[in-house]
Amino acid sequence: MGAAGNTPTPSILVINAGSSSVKFALYDAAAPENRLLTGQVSGIGTGAVEADLPQETHKEVQNFGELAGDASHEAAICWVLEGLEKSGFAIMAAGHRVVHGGSAFSAACRVDASVEAEIERLIPLARLHNPHNLSAIRTVRSLWPDLPQIACFDTAFHATQPEIATTLALPGELREAGIRRYGFHGLSYQSVANSLQRFLPGGLPDRVIVAHLGNGASLCALHKGKSIATTMGFTPLDGLIMGTRPGLTDPGVIVYLLEEQGMEAGRLSHLLQKESGLLGLSGISADMRVLEASDEAAARFAVEAFCYRIVRETGSLVAALGGLDGFVFTGGIGENSARVRGRIMEGLGWLGAGVDGDANQARAGREPLAISPAGARLPVYMVRTDEEKVIAAETARLVA
Ligand code: ADP
Repeated sequence: MGAAGNTPTPSILVINAGSSSVKFALYDAAAPENRLLTGQVSGIGTGAVEADLPQETHKEVQNFGELAGDASHEAAICWVLEGLEKSGFAIMAAGHRVVHGGSAFSAACRVDASVEAEIERLIPLARLHNPHNLSAIRTVRSLWPDLPQIACFDTAFHATQPEIATTLALPGELREAGIRRYGFHGLSYQSVANSLQRFLPGGLPDRVIVAHLGNGASLCALHKGKSIATTMGFTPLDGLIMGTRPGLTDPGVIVYLLEEQGMEAGRLSHLLQKESGLLGLSGISADMRVLEASDEAAARFAVEAFCYRIVRETGSLVAALGGLDGFVFTGGIGENSARVRGRIMEGLGWLGAGVDGDANQARAGREPLAISPAGARLPVYMVRTDEEKVIAAETARLVA
């Protein structure tokens, strides 16, 4: 594939536009499980934008040229698209990660004006994500108006939850206005379920909890591979303690801050999105690596609180599932932090998890790994998530 002279492989472009980064990858359109290249632009909004391109394996990416250090999301996406074009890649379709799909989307779909309008309408429910997802879609359309685009929603995987799990106990007019629990990280849960289904001789067990632990973090209860409950709710603010989000917080705290401290809405939103969680607890960092390396008592407490919340919320999901046949770690922390995994498995001792020090130290690889002691009543796995691969597969399927 690649630059002039070779016949380029028809490929699918996957774009994951996050709050400060744009990750992209190309997959073989005829065999979308084959990733051809991957790259990313990070540090958007910080004034120190950096690009990471696969220079070693793909000489043609030299055609991308320089990217300005103060590039915006739009500028970064334009730079990626123009760079891919100049490098001679043959892109047949683009698949996007879209965080919030609300009630309208229970599956991936082709983007048209009405889909764009709905993603825009949902911006207040995912302020950190939907605006950038939408901007990626619009930038692709402005450069390549005829390219088919597919939106893959993080909420869609949770459309299988029963009404009792998604309903908030609020008056009817608010429920009718769409105020309910949705759930997120669905592309990751799909990826993990696919991997375990392939990897385990008996396929995915009936009752599994997956812990997606990254900057954002959530748990999902899977019954026969389908989401029946999850810790995130109306927005990605609910549930676990995250890098900068507090997760589960008595709504009375919000009322108190509004009424007694006169906190203004924008300030409150910033507090809950950017200043809380591991960062707020430690006063040091939102980054688990930094906290693990710190000797400060507040850093240790933040890590302990992170694990404690996961163990407690697991109890709630076990009740929803009526038992548990497997527990899975994924995401940047889940795949890399033996300390966090060890503390959580200790906390799940009552479910029969057990800890095998050596197995827990293993590094996540392409295949899922069993990390619980042999014969443990509750098998525990570590699975590397690959959301982009799920998007590539959905995109290939929908444009076929
Ligand atoms: P995002 O939700 O932004 O995709 P990731 O899934 O990449 O985030 O997870 C980022 C988190 O993973 C950070 O808290 C980071 O510190 C943590 N992490 C990455 N590598 C390690 C490691 N080796 N040990 C502990 N934590 C790690």
